[in-house]
Amino acid sequence: MTDLTKLTLSEARDGLANKDFSATELTKALLKAIEAGNEDLNCYVLPTPDHALAQAKASDKRIKKGDAGELEGLPLGIKDLFCTEGVRTTACSNILDDFKPRYESTVTANLWDAGAVMLGKLNNDEFAMGSSNETSAFGPVVNPWRREGSTDKLVPGGSSGGSSAAVAADLCLAATATDTGGSIRQPAALTGTVGMKPTYGRCSRWGTVAFASSLDQAGPITKTVRDAALMLKVMASHDPKDSTSVDADVPDYEATLKDGVKGLRVGVPKEYRIDGMSKEASALWEQGIAWLKDAGATIHDISLPHTKYALPAYYIIAPAEASSNLARYDGVRYGMRKPGKDLIDTYEETREAGFGAEVKRRVLIGTYVLSAGYYDAYYLKAQKVRTLIKGDFDTAWDKVDVVLTPTTPSPAFAFGEKSGDPLQMYLEDIFTVTVNMAGLPGISVPAGLSGQGTPLGLQLIGKPFDEATLLRAGQTIEDAAGRFSVPKRWWV
Ligand code: GLN
Repeated sequence: MTDLTKLTLSEARDGLANKDFSATELTKALLKAIEAGNEDLNCYVLPTPDHALAQAKASDKRIKKGDAGELEGLPLGIKDLFCTEGVRTTACSNILDDFKPRYESTVTANLWDAGAVMLGKLNNDEFAMGSSNETSAFGPVVNPWRREGSTDKLVPGGSSGGSSAAVAADLCLAATATDTGGSIRQPAALTGTVGMKPTYGRCSRWGTVAFASSLDQAGPITKTVRDAALMLKVMASHDPKDSTSVDADVPDYEATLKDGVKGLRVGVPKEYRIDGMSKEASALWEQGIAWLKDAGATIHDISLPHTKYALPAYYIIAPAEASSNLARYDGVRYGMRKPGKDLIDTYEETREAGFGAEVKRRVLIGTYVLSAGYYDAYYLKAQKVRTLIKGDFDTAWDKVDVVLTPTTPSPAFAFGEKSGDPLQMYLEDIFTVTVNMAGLPGISVPAGLSGQGTPLGLQLIGKPFDEATLLRAGQTIEDAAGRFSVPKRWWV
């Protein structure tokens, strides 16, 4: 029998429809892969096998009755930032301890309504703060990719490192993820997977642990562009419980994938040619331009003049919002409590013990930039910069339909290589944060390998709510580049 774990989401969907195998068989194959691989890779912080098998059984019944949903019987991994009813949700922070939500996030509820199966909760950087998954309270995730001829451990990117590694290592068919400054696209690029960050407002944020509410957006990490189309269709919805979710039509993304890019106007921003970019990333960018051109797109040089201010402004706005969002973790309502001599002392003891170093750094920065006297100089200024960045894109849309850039300046790096220097780590987001600042959709598609045999991604940025065009252009890149699977399953 074929190895069911290797299937893409769409292949598994077709296989189930054909009755080639059952949802239970498929789920069991993936649970076995998790059992074999999770100790080495640390993708799952909580596998939920009983839950998965019960859902798969129910799926098999519905399939038998001819009552299958869009994702019926398809086993997924869920980032531990999504609240799952009755199932421990921690954002990979000690402060949430054994928190079991009494509600289901809207995104995951949509997935279960469509028949999907939950294999477990996936590792991530604590409260989604990081680019390497090294800040998780459950320890780092290991990238299934290694440099040629080396057994050194590489990071899977972050914050959705559990999601990207699990998809790349075939420990789920697809995963949910979230992206505040790059956390879907950067880990996708570092693991040879597809990462789609939708337009702000496309997916409901209700029930997703908040990091920076004006930037956070849920999206999928998948093996193929087609799978991203399938996942997004179900994850997206208008939700009255999230006032920032938008009542926009959710098209059938899969149906238009084959339409190609003939006549599509692709912008290439000169400001993204930065000094720190690896030769490989810039060569791949040229290659991507050539692929799109060959497929009938037209290429246009554009300027996004405020790009260089995006990263510094992001690292004011995101911590500011985080410091406010994380104020709720005080030992009273959720998770752990470290009793002190009085109430204030209890707050302090709990937060000191519960938060990791990166989270504390963000809370300190955020509190500082919001404090009286500094608010105008930092926070307000950063908000103005944000408007300018959005304005750059608004101007670009007169000339082009999508923008093409590398996803990251370089491929996956080793453990500890950047974690000692926050600024080095923050530079990982240099090509991705602009998209969150402007609220736009962005997709990372695997496009090639570095000299050391590790994956690199290309990013496409689109107009608000035009994910369909991004997926279509992403499909063109995937068709040209081929797919990138981990050469060797060293973890089994
Ligand atoms: N790496 C960025 C940060 O640490 C983005 C994280 C994210 O998108 N959640 O803030």
